[in-house]
Amino acid sequence: MQSSDTLLIVGAGSAGSELAVSARQLGWPGPIVLLGEEHCLPYHRPPLSKAFLHGTATSDSLTMRPQEAYEKANIDVRLGARVASIDRAAKRVHLHDGSTLAYGKLALCTGGRPRPLVADGLAADAAPGNLHVLRTQADAQAIRDGLAEGTQLVVIGGGYVGLEVAASARKLGASVTVLEAQPRVLARVTGEALSAFYTAIHREAGVDIRTGVAVQRIECDERGRVRAVICSDGARLPADCVVVGVGMLPNAELAAAAGLAVDGGIVVDALSVTSDPDIVAAGDCTVHDHALYARRVRLESVPNALEQARAAASALCGKPKPNHAVPWFWSDQYDLKLQMVGLSAGFEACVLRGAPQERNFIAFYLRDGCVIAADAVNRPADFMVAKRLVAAACRIDADQLADASVPLKQLLLTAVSA
Ligand SMILES: Cc1cc2nc3c(=O)[nH]c(=O)nc-3n(C[C@H](O)[C@H](O)[C@H](O)COP(=O)(O)OP(=O)(O)OC[C@H]3O[C@@H](n4cnc5c(N)ncnc54)[C@H](O)[C@@H]3O)c2cc1C
Repeated sequence: MQSSDTLLIVGAGSAGSELAVSARQLGWPGPIVLLGEEHCLPYHRPPLSKAFLHGTATSDSLTMRPQEAYEKANIDVRLGARVASIDRAAKRVHLHDGSTLAYGKLALCTGGRPRPLVADGLAADAAPGNLHVLRTQADAQAIRDGLAEGTQLVVIGGGYVGLEVAASARKLGASVTVLEAQPRVLARVTGEALSAFYTAIHREAGVDIRTGVAVQRIECDERGRVRAVICSDGARLPADCVVVGVGMLPNAELAAAAGLAVDGGIVVDALSVTSDPDIVAAGDCTVHDHALYARRVRLESVPNALEQARAAASALCGKPKPNHAVPWFWSDQYDLKLQMVGLSAGFEACVLRGAPQERNFIAFYLRDGCVIAADAVNRPADFMVAKRLVAAACRIDADQLADASVPLKQLLLTAVSA
């Protein structure tokens, strides 16, 4: 087999694993090599802050596909293999161990890494042993090992990961404080109604949520472990364990160094093709122009990683199927299943259907009278309809959306046929 037949995939996460399997299913004829720097088979990351953290999921249950599935599809999975650079002219990649591999087509599925916390008291090169980020199974295990009944946990960042960690830690009996520098939690991803709802839910569960409060300094003991977090409002929070969840940085440096177009992520089109026609990219490391929102977006979600991977595989196998999926995401906290579709940024009106006090409602976001996004709490049936309302940017009267006596499906049918 020629190296020009080889599909080389860098990054063995959601996107990398899906791309490998889809390419084989769609008829990629040559070798498929999946390179991952972690030492375990591709696994699901969402449970890391949820079931895995509070102990109802195991390492085995996180694994996406067993080794045999890759063998059956004739996919050569190489773990502990980190790619250091790409030589596009020679169509080769260089690995950290000094070896090189040739490719015919290359796929970059390198995901992202946690944005580091910058605060006084922290050395740039050595993090205290009880200050954690959360991206890998090893990170989650380290956090889990540091949590027990009565542990004083400080979570820095009130985004989804931070709030899920808070909920899981409460299940384990930890005493939890969440610090959010913005005036409200989830400010980057949702509207005020949802932020207020989740703040109330966490406070009810005993979490001390402090918004508009930044971290000023990390106070360490003589062994270099965090002893307390000093806040911008002067408060000193004693801590046995700190989890930092202040966002993600895309792993786009490999692509940038190879001269590919990068703009806050590797730029791809609807077929996941980069500025080099022999290189595709998928997942958290990418940005793309989203037709529905008429702007460039970087999505950090499993559904996006899977859709982009499938589009890439379709392009590589000569059966192009562009990805025009509407973004969607989910978050599990306590007994609440939150499902979000669309991007609500820039909405002009927010309409609630259902009752937040009954922990069962859906928030619709409207712009120019059209539904651009929705957040559903414990309302999976409405969420399925909401996905279609958002995809078709349906124009629906706010009063009708709020009126739970009229089935949502009926509104969809009327709007689509209008
Ligand atoms: C705690 C947590 C909870 C989450 N919860 C949800 C959720 O509820 N719902 C949801 O939709 N999404 C959730 N996400 C986001 C979701 O997990 C990501 O969007 C998804 O994993 C992206 O897949 P990916 O393949 O792009 O990247 P990743 O899963 O990050 O995989 C990239 C892989 O590439 C490897 N790699 C990077 N560089 C190299 C290199 N140079 N050489 C070799 N290998 C390399 C990395 O080690 C990694 O294994 C969560 C994420 C986290 C961390």
